[in-house]
Amino acid sequence: MKQYELDTRCIHLPGEDHEEHFGALSYPIYQSASFVHQEIGDESGYAYSRVQNPTRDHLEQLLASIENGTDAIAFSSGMAAETALMELFSPGDHIIAEENLYGGSTRLFNVINGKNGLDFTYLDISSTDITPYINEHTKAVFIETPTNPMMNVTDIAAVARITKEHGILLVVDNTFLSPWFQNPLDLGADVVIHSGTKYLAGHNDTLAGFIVVKDAALSQKLRFIYKTTGACLAPFDSWLIIRGMKTLALRMDKSADNASKIAAWLRTQDKVGKVYYPGLDDHPGKAIMDRQARGYGAMLSFEVESPQAAADVLHRVKLIRFAESLGGTESLLTYPLVQTHADVPKDVLARAGLTDRLLRLSVGVENADDLIRDLDQAING
Ligand SMILES: *Cc1c(COP(=O)(O)O)cnc(C)c1O
Repeated sequence: MKQYELDTRCIHLPGEDHEEHFGALSYPIYQSASFVHQEIGDESGYAYSRVQNPTRDHLEQLLASIENGTDAIAFSSGMAAETALMELFSPGDHIIAEENLYGGSTRLFNVINGKNGLDFTYLDISSTDITPYINEHTKAVFIETPTNPMMNVTDIAAVARITKEHGILLVVDNTFLSPWFQNPLDLGADVVIHSGTKYLAGHNDTLAGFIVVKDAALSQKLRFIYKTTGACLAPFDSWLIIRGMKTLALRMDKSADNASKIAAWLRTQDKVGKVYYPGLDDHPGKAIMDRQARGYGAMLSFEVESPQAAADVLHRVKLIRFAESLGGTESLLTYPLVQTHADVPKDVLARAGLTDRLLRLSVGVENADDLIRDLDQAING
């Protein structure tokens, strides 16, 4: 039988049993820390919710299905997922990371993992051949595409060819496009990371994080780290993500459609400088996006005339809120320099073009004309 299409799989598991749970259409929240054993050695069901919980299992199976992996592990936040992932490595190991990553990832690598003996090389992987930087200690390459907030696009399959040749892991943070628009495991990545807080949850109300893999040995190692370190997603939060994911396809399509309209409008504004959106025809990554993704996402960045103009826009927006985070139903505007990227070294910011005039917009699912009118009054006064 043909597998269901991706949007159906956001809602239904192949082979789901409608007789279970008294026919409840909404998967029940198993709010239990522990489960009774029938007898010694009974390993048929659940024992303890740090290791496994039915509600969380259901969520993990749904995400594994839409990300085309064999296992998805649900964490209490994106950073908890990344922290667990880094436990795969030992002191002396070397990792090549995209220099334009989410600022929290860079902070984890530099402040926590660096202290524990991991060594990082940061490169603009969207435009740099990583091969000369791989050495005998290199264990992984960590990328994000499109990047945050500069929207640089990396050819995942091209990087995967290099990592496979050297026997090292390719990790892709797929938060920005979500599985609806991009499936890195299909392009040769070994590990997909999600901040489930963003598009998967989708409503700016829950924190979550995921690791998705398709290799059984890797899944086993990560499951061991997971049960040992314990940053697991709670049953109620798991249910909220299940609920959010049911509308992933609808929300992504609507917000991406809004984003392309807004990017085109921003382009026509005298008081706006560069506009970074991978769906714009002259975006340097557009051809790669067309090959490896099914949409351009709903994140965009743009420059205004001065740091004061940036402050004014943040102050004046009404419908759009000045807040961190992204990927929810509400449109949010952020100032990356002092918010998401406060801990990124200044020289890295300068190289990336992340200036004190740059604003980042996470486009939600409101009416595009309302959003444009709000930006118009905020930018043009
Ligand atoms: C938000 C985010 C993270 C961190 O996830 P949390 O859920 O906030 O811990 C990691 N990567 C990207 C791209 C993000 O946007």
